[in-house]
Amino acid sequence: MRTAIVTGAGSGIGYATSVKLANKGITVIMGDIIKDIGEKAKEVESLSKSKVIGLTVDVSDWNSTKEFYEEALKILGIDHVDILVNNAGIIRDALFVKMTPEQWDQVIKVHLYGTFNMTKQVIEGMIKYNWGRIINMSSASWMGNIGQANYSAAKAGIIGFTKTLARELGKYNITVNALVPGFIDTPMTRSVPEKIRKIIIDRIPLGKIGSPEDVANLIAFLVSDEASYLTGDIIEVTGGLTL
Ligand code: NAP
Repeated sequence: MRTAIVTGAGSGIGYATSVKLANKGITVIMGDIIKDIGEKAKEVESLSKSKVIGLTVDVSDWNSTKEFYEEALKILGIDHVDILVNNAGIIRDALFVKMTPEQWDQVIKVHLYGTFNMTKQVIEGMIKYNWGRIINMSSASWMGNIGQANYSAAKAGIIGFTKTLARELGKYNITVNALVPGFIDTPMTRSVPEKIRKIIIDRIPLGKIGSPEDVANLIAFLVSDEASYLTGDIIEVTGGLTL
């Protein structure tokens, strides 16, 4: 029986991923900065046959990720986790000339420090058991997107991080891959004005916005034994948006 941590699990892609993994028989530790993550975990548990717990964590804060990891192991009576989905994310969009140092810091901290912090917590356990799956959430914005200098920089950084870890950790049978979602229907994208939404959707060859489940399905594959020969890969799930 595998155990997975999903960050940013209270909403959107993280929530859908938690449901999907729990339905595959994986024990899921849902981490999120939102306070009612425990309730969300109960909801997910009731939809599956797996054990699901929810704990508050601020992935951008080292001590918070350490306490989160230690608490999760204690509650479940285990000494490591097998799967980590580094999914927590925020946007603080602004044109670069108007972007504040705070907007820059917040986005870099949640995405880059967050990915570093959580990965550091789990890595020794994965090495010890010679098995691990790490999925990092990048974005099609890594290629550059107006108003997202902070987010694009973070998401491009995640790609470099993923490829380096894949090189370093392959010998321990740990795979590290990054996902590049396109335009997915979650609270993060619901704030996009209707006019802009339409312009983006018109550019998607499949003609529709993606669902959180579209991304969760790919994550479920990547953490499975069937995906054991994929590492360092950057996998797009965009409906063709980036073509
Ligand atoms: P979402 O619905 O906003 O979910 C993100 C979750 O992460 C929220 O519950 C959020 O809490 C939480 N979070 C924020 N800061 C955190 C922190 N410091 N520690 C722990 N949790 C934190 O967004 P989503 O669309 O599902 O996005 C999930 C991931 O996919 C993100 O990394 C995002 O960048 C990436 N992505 C999304 C899209 C898309 O089209 N939706 C496209 C490409 C990539 P709050 O609500 O309180 O902030």
